Amino acid sequence: MSQALKRIYHADGYDTALPVGSYWESVVRNPVTDPALDGDLTTDVAIIGAGFTGLSAALHLAQDFGCAPIVLDAAQVGWGASGRNAGFNCVGGGKISDAAYTARWGAADLGLYYTTQRRATEVVGELLDTHAIDADRQPAGEWLMAHRRKDYEGFAEDAAYLQRMTGVQSEIIPPEALRERGVNGAGFHGGMLSQSGFCLNPRRYVFGLADALRRAGGRIFGDSAVTKITRLSDGRFALQTAKGRVVADRLVLAGNGYNSENLPPWMRGRYMPVVSHIMVTEPMGADVLGDQDWLVNQMACDTRKMLHYFRLLPDGRMLFGMRGAPNLAPDNRARMPAAVRADFDEMFPAWQHVKTAYHWSGLICVSRKLVPYVGAIDDWKGAYTALAYHGNGVSMASYCGRLLAGMAAGKPYDEPLSKGMRAPLERYPFSRFRRLGLPAAFKWYGLQDR
Ligand SMILES: Cc1cc2nc3c(=O)[nH]c(=O)nc-3n(C[C@H](O)[C@H](O)[C@H](O)COP(=O)(O)OP(=O)(O)OC[C@H]3O[C@@H](n4cnc5c(N)ncnc54)[C@H](O)[C@@H]3O)c2cc1C
Repeated sequence: MSQALKRIYHADGYDTALPVGSYWESVVRNPVTDPALDGDLTTDVAIIGAGFTGLSAALHLAQDFGCAPIVLDAAQVGWGASGRNAGFNCVGGGKISDAAYTARWGAADLGLYYTTQRRATEVVGELLDTHAIDADRQPAGEWLMAHRRKDYEGFAEDAAYLQRMTGVQSEIIPPEALRERGVNGAGFHGGMLSQSGFCLNPRRYVFGLADALRRAGGRIFGDSAVTKITRLSDGRFALQTAKGRVVADRLVLAGNGYNSENLPPWMRGRYMPVVSHIMVTEPMGADVLGDQDWLVNQMACDTRKMLHYFRLLPDGRMLFGMRGAPNLAPDNRARMPAAVRADFDEMFPAWQHVKTAYHWSGLICVSRKLVPYVGAIDDWKGAYTALAYHGNGVSMASYCGRLLAGMAAGKPYDEPLSKGMRAPLERYPFSRFRRLGLPAAFKWYGLQDR
């Protein structure tokens, strides 16, 4: 990617020529290589970023508003987080506590925020169905595994609260019944199965969105990093790439964790990319799976703030992910596979002999307000962005892309959008150094997990 883009991590993390190395790449080939932009084009809406946000925005613009959007990506479709995540389509999107949310935006708005989160999971299902995308959809439901006794003891209240806020039903499973339910792991003090969302193959999903967009008349250019956005005197936007320029009436920026400090300068310090890591084991047969007794294909995570997330893949591999490295420098990245593996071995001791087949990392995105943002870029009329899904973008990015389409078309959908999500994207204090605070934040969360 161009030198002109200022990033807050080591350049390797943004180098589109370096292999990602994900398991998904090994099972799903990119069916199309989109050409680089070469020359000048004009369009009604230009979109930067070909992940869930950008493609959902483009697809909704094309199918619902008759637009002919142009999507530009520095790499190919799904190169960012969208093609390399764990595939959990679940309720979530922020990291703020309910008490803090209520204090800022009120109890009624908190209710709307929860409705948004549930609706976001449904939008993914609708996109899969409407466009006949086969994304290896897995059985509905999400497991939450208590890593402390007190978390298990709070499950009854949590389940009642979740039902009140979202209508989602949950079942609580005591520790002695975990093995027979096929959700056994060391250190689990009980589980809660919530009937919302489902997991999928994210690479199939993102390629499916891109296919649907091409069929609907949208155009995608790969290997086309936008290095400059200029506001023209007639209000339009000119997007500069290495070999071309797109002039657009309206603009959608969908770079999430791969955004830059200077594209546009308004973005500086308003987002915080955070590294997430995943490992995937070799395939396991029924006997090996039975040794550990983790047998369900639903998504799962534990109750830690320094979250572990895991799921059994359809081919008998276990996927296991967590946050961790404070940056993307090669030495830090090199340390992560062993750290992830150590936590995996502790949680699933019967699989200590099963080899790691794949491991990779990518950037999620956090905001200072700890809630996603959907809305205008600066005071630019006709320019919109959505970002900061706090590691929950399968649903939230798909949903926010839809909202962005309505905004860019000048006809917002009649869909829930809370004040918290519309609230301005605040700049981090001492934003140039914000990354340096991460190790202390990780330590603090780790202490709270004890
Ligand atoms: C390891 C990992 C695991 C995750 N697991 C889950 C999960 O299980 N469930 C869940 O809900 N979420 C998960 N997430 C988060 C989720 O993947 C993201 O929130 C979501 O994919 C964001 O989508 P996006 O389209 O906004 O951004 P991205 O998919 O990151 O796409 C941004 C794109 O913008 C492009 N771009 C940036 N700048 C420019 C530029 N100047 N010019 C051109 N192109 C540019 C990039 O090349 C990139 O392709 C995970 C993320 C990671 C990294």
